Amino acid sequence: MTAPDAPRPDAPALDAPAALSADSPRRTEPPSKLAVIGAGAVGSSVAYAALLRGTARTIALYDVNRTRAHGEVLDLAHGSPLASGATVIGGGDISAVADADVVVITAGAAQKPGQTRLDLAGTNVGILRTLMPQLLEQAPDAVYILVTNPVDVLTVAASRIAGLPAGRVFGSGTVLDTSRLRWKLAQALEVAPSSVHATIIGEHGDSEFGLWSTATVGQVPLRQWRSAAGTCDFTDEILDALSYEVSRAAYEVIAGKGATNLAIGVSAARIVEAVLHDERAVLPVSSVLDGVHGISGVAMSLPSIVGRSGVIRTLDVPLDERERTLLHASADALRTVQEGLGI
Ligand code: NAD
Repeated sequence: MTAPDAPRPDAPALDAPAALSADSPRRTEPPSKLAVIGAGAVGSSVAYAALLRGTARTIALYDVNRTRAHGEVLDLAHGSPLASGATVIGGGDISAVADADVVVITAGAAQKPGQTRLDLAGTNVGILRTLMPQLLEQAPDAVYILVTNPVDVLTVAASRIAGLPAGRVFGSGTVLDTSRLRWKLAQALEVAPSSVHATIIGEHGDSEFGLWSTATVGQVPLRQWRSAAGTCDFTDEILDALSYEVSRAAYEVIAGKGATNLAIGVSAARIVEAVLHDERAVLPVSSVLDGVHGISGVAMSLPSIVGRSGVIRTLDVPLDERERTLLHASADALRTVQEGLGI
């Protein structure tokens, strides 16, 4: 997969006060508004990454916890003159979301001790049933990006509740997992992450896996990569271990700091940019599949073209026999959760 991502060139220098206001006439880009729903660890990090990267001219943050949202909005706004100059608004009033171009949903209950993944999914689908109609009233033309977990299942639920054209509702999917993989491979190979073209596909969760058959480092197929000493670095066992480590990475972060928030913040901001700038970037986001590789009715991640209307097309990426089996196993795992929830 083509690697993104140099920092955005349009972030003003520290000593450029004339460019700091979001209303500055020197800006030439059309107005853009990002709304982030949920001002917890993830939502505030999405807003923070967007503020630093200059993702949107207005960033709105909304949370039912009005006190928390107010505090986060103030904290972000205090730094905005030193960052992109974006206008930061919001709090506990959903009207802050009005006319957003993109809505990123991070709202949800966190997993409690003794609570199963299915219980959590049920709670978060319940939140979406109330939330989506309210959001659609405020931002009827927005592209909706789900981040709340289990993100693939919630993407199906949100798509059905919203009834919007296919692709206008999608999930952050394995963009974060793919970033983790590229970081790991880049470290091992001592090359730039931007030269690692490898992708994690399937469920954002335990059944995800690396798409090795088409992975390359520069122009060299990953499986044919040889170390300077001429040894094969990427046997099937090593690649399996890499997939497993990436799928477990969140547990390691959570064990250390209680949540994963910073990397998903950057990932979501990157996806929003692909939409707002109509980039047609190929990203492994999660959308409801309609026959790709014989899979329908579940949302999962495959390399997809992302632009102003959301997911424009899910690519029919070539898979070897093993990858095809793993993709179908991932779809079956998601279907089981959906059936348990009556989705
Ligand atoms: P958190 O508990 O810190 O924040 C969740 C926020 O949602 C809370 O502030 C809560 O008040 C708010 N909320 C609940 N119901 C709401 C509603 N109806 N309207 C508006 N706000 C509402 O949790 P977090 O750490 O920020 O995680 C949020 C979600 O993101 C979780 O589901 C987590 O699993 C998920 N996540 C996804 C990825 C990914 O790659 N997709 C990565 C990390 C975390």
